Amino acid sequence: MLYAAVDLGGTKIAGALGWANGSLSAEQTIPTEADGGPEHVIARIAELVRSFGGLPAALGIGVPGLVDRASGDVLFLPNLATQWRGVPLARRLEAELGIPVRVLNDARAATLGEFRFGHSAPNMLLYTLGTGVGGGVIVEGRLRLGAFGAAGELGHQTMEANGELCNCGSRGCLETIVSGPALARAGAALLGRPVTVAEMATLPECRPIFIRAGESLGIAVANMISALHPELVVFGGGLSALGELLLGPVRPTVAARVRMFPADGVRLERSALGDQAGLLGALALASLDFT
Ligand SMILES: [Zn+2]
Repeated sequence: MLYAAVDLGGTKIAGALGWANGSLSAEQTIPTEADGGPEHVIARIAELVRSFGGLPAALGIGVPGLVDRASGDVLFLPNLATQWRGVPLARRLEAELGIPVRVLNDARAATLGEFRFGHSAPNMLLYTLGTGVGGGVIVEGRLRLGAFGAAGELGHQTMEANGELCNCGSRGCLETIVSGPALARAGAALLGRPVTVAEMATLPECRPIFIRAGESLGIAVANMISALHPELVVFGGGLSALGELLLGPVRPTVAARVRMFPADGVRLERSALGDQAGLLGALALASLDFT
């Protein structure tokens, strides 16, 4: 049985057709054209899915923001033009395409994808490290979304009580320390000029910035390990490609901070799905009964 998968981003929409085992038969990326507003973007998604043909049994969509899990309505997409408040995405696309449509936050979908097709354990956490920091939590083999559907915002734990203002409205969140923009801001402050994270990774004087960020990430991970004691913690998103430079401090920080019980057995891995995490997450969402 074929399923359709869509990863909706601020600048591009990635779509694919694939099977429940994670293999893709077709794949295409188009510009989002978010300035056109939700109806325009919904029409583009429908057109993309139709262009694959193949009569998919269902469509899964990962979106960068808040979703009402039961209705499939998008509550808020902060990074898309017009911000998509209260858009009935699942219902509109079901009407357009005539197939069931499931919508989920993209980091939660990526967690489902990793669990299904990548590194997997019955109890696991995923951190997506990129422009923002997202996440997801799997407990006893099920993605956990909490009472109101938004559980798993691992990037918005407070790390610094009076830290920088975060995009979420709070202060000092993990995202204000470990995200791409946060690292670039720290680099610019150190060097006295604009700098990209990719360039920072080549500069010895920027090493302390990555070490500090990695230690903060380690503290955040230690907090979650203390709360949930998973077997596995996975790091995905573009920044995970920094490898040891960013992730090196995580293991020793976890060892130093989780003292109530042994944490040596907790595996720390980089995502096995790479830049296909979004699409494979949406495919897992379409094909898996995850509740
Ligand atoms: Zn935050």
